[in-house]
Amino acid sequence: MPAGPGLIRAGTRAVLATMHGKERVIAPILREAFDLDVVLAPGLDTDAFGTFTREIDRPGTQAETARLKAQAGLSADPLAAIGIASEGSFFAHPHIPFVPMAREIVILLERPGGLEIAGIDEGIDTNYGHVVATSIETAMAFANASGFPAHGLVVMGTSEGQPDPRLLLRKDIDDADTLADAIGQAIRLGGAAHVETDMRAHRNPTRMAAIARATHDLVQRIRSRCPLCDRPGFAAVGRIAGLPCRVCGVPTRQTVATRMGCSGCGHEVIVHRTDVATADPATCDVCNP
Ligand SMILES: [Zn+2]
Ligand SMILES: [Zn+2]
Repeated sequence: MPAGPGLIRAGTRAVLATMHGKERVIAPILREAFDLDVVLAPGLDTDAFGTFTREIDRPGTQAETARLKAQAGLSADPLAAIGIASEGSFFAHPHIPFVPMAREIVILLERPGGLEIAGIDEGIDTNYGHVVATSIETAMAFANASGFPAHGLVVMGTSEGQPDPRLLLRKDIDDADTLADAIGQAIRLGGAAHVETDMRAHRNPTRMAAIARATHDLVQRIRSRCPLCDRPGFAAVGRIAGLPCRVCGVPTRQTVATRMGCSGCGHEVIVHRTDVATADPATCDVCNP
């Protein structure tokens, strides 16, 4: 397998699969970092890989979907050696009630070398949310809290309290009058309007910023090279538990070291933690069974 610093060269043509303006943030970062020639995938319908508004389901997990999009970009542009795509995911915070989280993945596939590297951004900086409103006032209050009109909103009809895009689906709402009109229409049709934040990148500046952070993470991962074969993407592949308890010294389930690995030659390096030397006894099965 070819490996080494030649995998990502200055001037390499990189095809980006997006219909939603992600080139505005992704292209300048990759141009500046590696002098890549970022072009848009011609005639690619990325909505075929799933829409946030439920008309089309995502074909796989977030990472799988990003990979499929990048592969489709490479298929659409035979001259490109690199395929790039991003995929966002929004979900409830695992520990804090009513706090939404966002995860962005920006994936890079390199055709000749088979390199695959993904940058990630994850955090609570998102306006992701929805309201089921039976009055224009409730819906407008949600719109204001969501950053409308700088951030887009989607209005759907409802059937038995559930969003029903077949009844009504309005995207690309830019002003308060059009929004009020769509909400009124949804309420007339089904008794309530389902109003949700538009998570498409070009209608969501908060998301666009997260995609930029994920792209910077991708740059860092590409720059991290295997000490043995110099292949880009030398990254954490696992963790090793066993940080000793501060009181009794018995190994806990807390991380003591990270395994860094190369996807090319398989070389691994164990990097021990330097931020802490011992674990809180609260996490120790002996001191705190
Ligand atoms: Zn202990
Ligand atoms: Zn290697």
